[in-house]
Amino acid sequence: MPQSMKPLSIQQVQIQDEFWSSRQKQVQDVVVPYQWAALNDEIPDAEPSYSMSNLKIAAKVADGQYHGMIFQDSDLYKWLETVGYVLSQHHDDSHSRAQLESLADSVIDLLEKAQWPDGYLNTYFTLVRPEDRWKNLRDEHELYCAGHLIEAAVAYYEATGKRKILDIVCRLADHIGAVFGPGPDRKHGYPGHPELELALFKLYRTTANKDYLHLAKYFIDERGRQPNYYVQEAVSRGEIGASDRNLEYWQAHAPLLEQHKAVGHAVRAMYLYSGATDVATEYEDEEMLAHLRELWDNVTKRRLYVTGGIGSSAHDEAFTVDYDLPNDRAYTESCAAIGLMLWAHRMLQVTKDARYADVMERALYNGILSGISLDGTKYFYVNPLEVKPAIANHRHDMRHITTVRQPWFGCACCPPNIARLMSSLGQYLYSVDESEQALYVHLFVAGQAFATVDQNDVEITLETAQPWDGDVAITVNQTKDSPWTLALRIPAWCRGNFSVLINGKYWDYMEEERGYLKITRQWQAGDQLQVSFAMDVQIVRANPLLRADIGKVCLQRGPFVYCLEEADNGANLHTICLSNSGSIVSAFESGLLGGVAVITASGCRLNTVSDDLYSTDLGQKMDVTLRAIPYYAWANRGEGEMTVWVNEA
Ligand SMILES: [Zn+2]
Repeated sequence: MPQSMKPLSIQQVQIQDEFWSSRQKQVQDVVVPYQWAALNDEIPDAEPSYSMSNLKIAAKVADGQYHGMIFQDSDLYKWLETVGYVLSQHHDDSHSRAQLESLADSVIDLLEKAQWPDGYLNTYFTLVRPEDRWKNLRDEHELYCAGHLIEAAVAYYEATGKRKILDIVCRLADHIGAVFGPGPDRKHGYPGHPELELALFKLYRTTANKDYLHLAKYFIDERGRQPNYYVQEAVSRGEIGASDRNLEYWQAHAPLLEQHKAVGHAVRAMYLYSGATDVATEYEDEEMLAHLRELWDNVTKRRLYVTGGIGSSAHDEAFTVDYDLPNDRAYTESCAAIGLMLWAHRMLQVTKDARYADVMERALYNGILSGISLDGTKYFYVNPLEVKPAIANHRHDMRHITTVRQPWFGCACCPPNIARLMSSLGQYLYSVDESEQALYVHLFVAGQAFATVDQNDVEITLETAQPWDGDVAITVNQTKDSPWTLALRIPAWCRGNFSVLINGKYWDYMEEERGYLKITRQWQAGDQLQVSFAMDVQIVRANPLLRADIGKVCLQRGPFVYCLEEADNGANLHTICLSNSGSIVSAFESGLLGGVAVITASGCRLNTVSDDLYSTDLGQKMDVTLRAIPYYAWANRGEGEMTVWVNEA
């Protein structure tokens, strides 16, 4: 099996990018303080979190009762993970950094106080049902919360070098390892909501303790085996009808190797597949990796929205069947798009195939970014591709749709998940492949990369105006004395249309492999590589088997999927058609929505001549100019209609 790539860490990447630096700064200056206030129930008119109050009570520094969802701890843990990433990049000794670190340390002190002597840590079971620990893995999220705490600990330890949080989670993981695993003296369960698998893998990478790797593998291998643990557990609890429950929701109906389609709760599926990819890569498990590629194809060729959203059904927040991707009832949870990006990134390391990076990019710039408002303080849990507020706010089967972003949620998994993703963006941009002595560039974000290739330090500076413009310039600052390879992803959206200059001269010796442009040479310090990827407006159609989009098109430019909003096009967007032969142009408008490239296109609007509900009228067509904005920026100008897919004239 070929050696997999290793991503550059956040610490090895410095982002200095027009589009992303301001967003990362916003996470640091606005989102982290805002979410801290939300976790402390200090946001007026927002649903309370109770996360910090639960922790203080569990740590015995406050009195009161537990409130909120059973997995409320995980919101705080994702916040702490975000703080770790923010501190990783914020290298000055400023007052705000010290303040943030001391705030996080105070949370860690509380976590230490709330931890049981045997290592157990979960505020719900500590405060509400201490006698019921580890009795309902299917529903009660103890292992899920543990996973998010471990991810937070690894991020915080890597940022600060402080071991306290790492020691806390090692005690927790050791306790979990004592309770679960093979052999007659341990429980043979696995997480109802996967997450711990990938977290244990991170803990193994950080501590080099193979017990954590073995436990992650155990959880993945045990899942779905007969007799089914969840059924046995439910029967022993006296649950009526336990054996009739459809276990697909938990991806526990069969062992993972026997699951041939992506089913069930979409976020759970993504976290499970991510953990399975980690473990299979480490064990060089070819069978599992081939199987994960099969699942990948099912997701990306049959069950993926053009925005990178997945999980089309509000019922169970789940996948349904192939090509069932309704636009106005889409669920497409922000966390599911994040989960897809996490999985894509892992598959990319092992396959070295740009199509995984294409999906990673699609999710990032569309279905993930749409989850957060431009000011950083409002969030979508659900990301539909078509909204008519009068209908969405009325229909029972669209209750899951919010037509404007919310300040917080009773179930607030998404807001801190978006924050941790945005603050950790650096780790998704580059990889090193030692077997071919190559530095891979996956996503084009301006800044610097500090890599080690064949035990030599290699440093590059990347300049680009992406995502708005296709030109990329890379300067080699530090190199080694033998040839090595720069491998640049050729984005699918440029459709193979690009040109390359090295030190101002056209480079014709194109070597392409799995969607990467590879340039191997004796690089010298100061060498400059310029690549222009065509970034035209594209008219995209869906596979005809996708019922919801037949006869419709959507607009894409670069990584962005576009949408029409009522604010630009008036109401009744469904009466608008895009001309397939008229002019389509894009222009950057710096004053609009924080600066976006707007697409204008010619089209028409259908009107009837009478007000009859049905008639044999052909109607009238009126020429109009359509204005489309990137999907991620919708719903930042008040409530109104929106659609991604437009009728084709
Ligand atoms: Zn979520």
